[in-house]
Amino acid sequence: MDEKRKLLLKSLPKIDEVILLLEKRDIYALASREIVKETSQKVVQKLRDEIVNSSPKENIESTIDATYVAQAVEKLIKDLHSCRLQRVVNATGVILHTNLGRAPLAASALQRIFEVGCGYSNLEFDLARGERGNRYDHVRELICTITCAEDACIVNNNAAAVMLVLNTLAEGKEAIVSRGELIEIGGEFRIPEVMQKSAAIMREVGTTNRTRLSDYEKAIGADTGLILKVHTSNYRIVGFTEEADILSLAALGKRKGIPVMDDLGSGCLLDLEKYGLQHEPTVREAVATGIDVVTFSGDKLLGGPQAGIIVGKEEILGLIKKNPLNRALRIDKFTLAALEATLIHYLNPSQAASSLRPLKSLTEPLADVKKRASLLAGKLRRAKLAALTVSLQESFSAAGGGSLPLEKIPTVVVGVKNKKMSAGRLEAALRKVEVPIIVRVDKDEILLDLRTVTEDEFTFILEGLQQCLSKEDPVPS
Ligand SMILES: *Cc1c(COP(=O)(O)O)cnc(C)c1O
Repeated sequence: MDEKRKLLLKSLPKIDEVILLLEKRDIYALASREIVKETSQKVVQKLRDEIVNSSPKENIESTIDATYVAQAVEKLIKDLHSCRLQRVVNATGVILHTNLGRAPLAASALQRIFEVGCGYSNLEFDLARGERGNRYDHVRELICTITCAEDACIVNNNAAAVMLVLNTLAEGKEAIVSRGELIEIGGEFRIPEVMQKSAAIMREVGTTNRTRLSDYEKAIGADTGLILKVHTSNYRIVGFTEEADILSLAALGKRKGIPVMDDLGSGCLLDLEKYGLQHEPTVREAVATGIDVVTFSGDKLLGGPQAGIIVGKEEILGLIKKNPLNRALRIDKFTLAALEATLIHYLNPSQAASSLRPLKSLTEPLADVKKRASLLAGKLRRAKLAALTVSLQESFSAAGGGSLPLEKIPTVVVGVKNKKMSAGRLEAALRKVEVPIIVRVDKDEILLDLRTVTEDEFTFILEGLQQCLSKEDPVPS
């Protein structure tokens, strides 16, 4: 080891010294003695490793004293006090952005979470009878009214719903599925792997582009437990294609006495065609085919909290509810409260289209998006942010969240360029401001897509840009 490193290692302070300094800075108001001590040890150990592993050329601190370490410990502890899961502005134009938390909740849903979470609740208590109740009863009636299903059950997310149904109906038995529907949704959800974990035996039929009803029929045998239909929600096979629709699959299942399941994924409860969008199968339509069970997400097109909703025949739902896996996958009271409030909007579908944010973003007329874009552009110009060039451009938004993959939704974006900062650097800087702004980058400018930005969020954008640009050198006039 070279001399410089030896000296550095020797200069590392004793933990007691560091703690003494931290005590003077009133560190115990922020964390316990144990946490302060352990954090100090970690910081010193990390510095020791850095010194030992650094190359001799590397520029590390010349001396490391107790003050230096104490400051590092204090910063780490202060950082722990600020929440890392935080609000951001989604200016990407991807409406159901899984990385950005999918559906923002309606005010009514947030209010219900607050009310239910503030105190105790009747989560599993039947107030009429004064005895133990069922947590799913609160929303069952609502889901069944909206979808026309006989019964419903809710779990943690749609992946869990699919797993639970497969395990209940096809454990150790064959589940027949088309080769054109062995999809990956992202985040490790792949139909073949989910089937394997559920202990169902995958029985593939047909080909990638063409699967006929007769392919399913031929595969049915003594080992068949289930026919599975998967909505190819995030891609489409186009060209020379054929698939069996769920109406004929439901009829086939009924004829053969085999349950049929449809994993709808995005779980649309509204007829999107009315708003000029492509047809997306609704849960009501799926249920109307007479299919046994349908699964869908709570936080995709539905616009509610993360949840997996299972609807279908009472007899089948009875089996699903009794599966011990159901207990492991059950949802919490906050999700139930938010889901209940979200579903209430669907009693009047046209109201849901304007009050639930993902649906509003999806169906909002281009003229309204444009108005909002002009408003933001005006505000940015008037804010006299240094060397900022602001423009309005036509572009396209996307539904995201594995729904409506072919839909290019017309939108208006605000393009922002800064002479002093490349688009890449500005994009990165906007991710680090107090309320981070997530944007698209196109060549030399950043684009703010107004389809996913509300007027309430303009102040965050203005403040964010101000924070980014104030760090830069003042622009010479
Ligand atoms: C999104 C999706 C899933 C997974 O749902 P999560 O709510 O993300 O768990 C499963 N199947 C299909 C068809 C989907 O689109």
